[in-house]
Amino acid sequence: MVYQISATKLQTYKRCPYAYYLRYEHRLAPSNFFGAAALGTALHQALAQFHRDWHYQNALPDLQWIHHCWQQHSSGLSSRQIMEGIAILENYYHSFIANAVALTQPLAVEGKIQGYLQAENLEFSLVGRYDRIDFLPDGLELIDYKSSRDVKLPDSSEINLQIGLYYLALKQTYQQSLKYLSLLFLRSGEKIRFEATEDHQAHVEDMISHLAVRLRQDRGWDPQPGKQCDRCSYARYCSAVTHDPAPIPETRATSQLQLALNLAS
Ligand code: SF4
Repeated sequence: MVYQISATKLQTYKRCPYAYYLRYEHRLAPSNFFGAAALGTALHQALAQFHRDWHYQNALPDLQWIHHCWQQHSSGLSSRQIMEGIAILENYYHSFIANAVALTQPLAVEGKIQGYLQAENLEFSLVGRYDRIDFLPDGLELIDYKSSRDVKLPDSSEINLQIGLYYLALKQTYQQSLKYLSLLFLRSGEKIRFEATEDHQAHVEDMISHLAVRLRQDRGWDPQPGKQCDRCSYARYCSAVTHDPAPIPETRATSQLQLALNLAS
């Protein structure tokens, strides 16, 4: 059986194996899961159309094109969100498009990342999503749009895992190396670039091997207390931070991997 792994799952595992176990093996949904914000989703969709559907034989698009794309994707929003969204997109246009010599057609927009890895005799399917992939002379640049109010950079060890996973998967899909992962902050117009190297891939392979051993043995999911505990949905079940932890609720889900391993043995 193939076990799905994403950058988000690997980051959770690195932060705390016990939280990983509760979230992904015991399938206990976190209490603060509300889904993607509607404004952020609409902004991503409008930008995908902006870059995907532009007629690249023409000169640079003007502001009307960005207004047109926004109209297509903002219908379910409040009037305050619609105004906020157009201000963000106009800022994007002035920061990244208006002064360009020409708009270069991306390799892909709004798609799935897929890859494969075998570790400790387990098969892993690598999954993820990207907002845009640009083709550079010396490799690929993966663009991740950020619509949050704060320019808050992820922890460097977490971004390194994301880069490594994408490096591995994109090389399999495009036979090209990832050169940069870039976070593009839509509200401030800032772009932060992280260089990707083979070391990132090696680090992710190590981490997945480590996880594979725990999955096979189904033990060693120890709590790893740290600054993340303040916002952890599972703190009430965790003996590392709670004097008298609540029993873990029953869930109907059984680890698919354990099921497969048990059947095979
Ligand atoms: S409270 Fe901290 S140690 Fe406990 S599960 Fe959450 S992250 Fe892990």
